[in-house]
Amino acid sequence: MRTTKVLLEESEIPTQWYNVVADMPNPPAPPLGPDGQPIGPDALAAIFPEALIEQEVSGERWIDIPDTVREIYTLWRPSPLYRAHRLEQALETPARIYYKYEGVSPAGSHKPNTAVAQAYYNKKAGIRRLTTETGAGQWGSSLALVGEMFGIDVRVYMVRVSYEQKPFRRSMMHTWGAEVLASPSDQTEAGRRILAEHPDSPGSLGISISEAVEEAASRDDTNYALGSVLNHVLLHQTVIGLEAKKQFDKVGDYPDVVFAPCGGGSNFGGAAFPFFADKAAGREVRLVAVEPSSCPTLTRGHYAYDFGDSVGLTPLLKMYTLGHDFVPPGIHAGGLRYHGDSALVSQLYHEGLIEAVAVPQLATFEAGVQFARAEGIIPAPESNHAIRACIDEALQCKERGEAKTLFFNLSGHGHFDMAAYDRYFSKQLEDFEYPEEAIEEALHHLPKVAEG
Ligand SMILES: *Cc1c(COP(=O)(O)O)cnc(C)c1O
Repeated sequence: MRTTKVLLEESEIPTQWYNVVADMPNPPAPPLGPDGQPIGPDALAAIFPEALIEQEVSGERWIDIPDTVREIYTLWRPSPLYRAHRLEQALETPARIYYKYEGVSPAGSHKPNTAVAQAYYNKKAGIRRLTTETGAGQWGSSLALVGEMFGIDVRVYMVRVSYEQKPFRRSMMHTWGAEVLASPSDQTEAGRRILAEHPDSPGSLGISISEAVEEAASRDDTNYALGSVLNHVLLHQTVIGLEAKKQFDKVGDYPDVVFAPCGGGSNFGGAAFPFFADKAAGREVRLVAVEPSSCPTLTRGHYAYDFGDSVGLTPLLKMYTLGHDFVPPGIHAGGLRYHGDSALVSQLYHEGLIEAVAVPQLATFEAGVQFARAEGIIPAPESNHAIRACIDEALQCKERGEAKTLFFNLSGHGHFDMAAYDRYFSKQLEDFEYPEEAIEEALHHLPKVAEG
């Protein structure tokens, strides 16, 4: 019988995370402080534990995964690699399609892979509370899940529009014991300032980050946890690609192209960076980050130093950005709404070592539905971006008669996103190209830094 799921033993969960910095041709652009000078590690100490700050700036290729973290990983890892036989048949493509399914975690996405590690290092540093932001609710639920496991109280600032539209993500966070506030809230200076100007603000990830960072910076017992973007987050997510490589070994195959949806870059980095190690060593493999046309950070944003949050509390990161005051178009239902992107992903893209493509919203839902009807799993709308790009490549293979091996990261399931699917079925969703004027305009709001 043909193999559908390629499975690993628990003992095959990676023992080390892979740090792509070791294989980058140029060192990463450093984060800058308000004075335009590179910040020292101590600038981050108010909100992050030392172990994570060390990982943030590390150039070591391999970083040990603590046993406690691996033990918790066994609750859902190793995650399966699937061969998408039925999707291949539906597409009549000669391509071999594989996907890694991260929806098997309790929260339903890849995000717990870093949440566990972040909670572990914070607990070791004596931290009792964590604050964070969440948009669609995936990250908030992941941190809520692990907070309980480590006896850490979690407060989540949830983007107001999602707070209202995703009541069950909220319930999930409550079930795991977290406190959830709609953001902008009246609990922080940043939130109050935004509410004074825009009482009806729908919120944004940038605003929620401002609130969570402000609170963490003002309390000794409280740190901040970020679900994407930062180097240490991408590092933790490399368990995805490292497992996938072992799984490809088992079936004697290897991808020609790797696709992953890209919001802040964590599941892309996690799935693709371990393959970048081979690419750096001379092997041919294409790595493609897939983003929405309505939030086209990599494909149309500016490569510049910008804040990670809306108010300007974070250090400046060199990244592709649509401007830190970006508020995503209301019509956009598919997640991946962050204004910026991981500095590592941005730099690799800028240097032409990875690729990026933007896809319109309706085509992503069409791909997700086609996938669900062939393979069964209903994907998260974010994951649909990668599925779209992968299906397009598989259709090209069909036209050209090429039997390529295609791999995408199925970053999560869509069980809490059925309202978005309903809007798609009832034709309430539209395509939206982010306007050129808005991209131009963002240039004028970028912080001025003299790079030297
Ligand atoms: C959060 C999320 C993403 C996007 O975030 P990245 O940091 O870019 O990975 C993609 N897919 C799912 C299911 C998510 O929850």
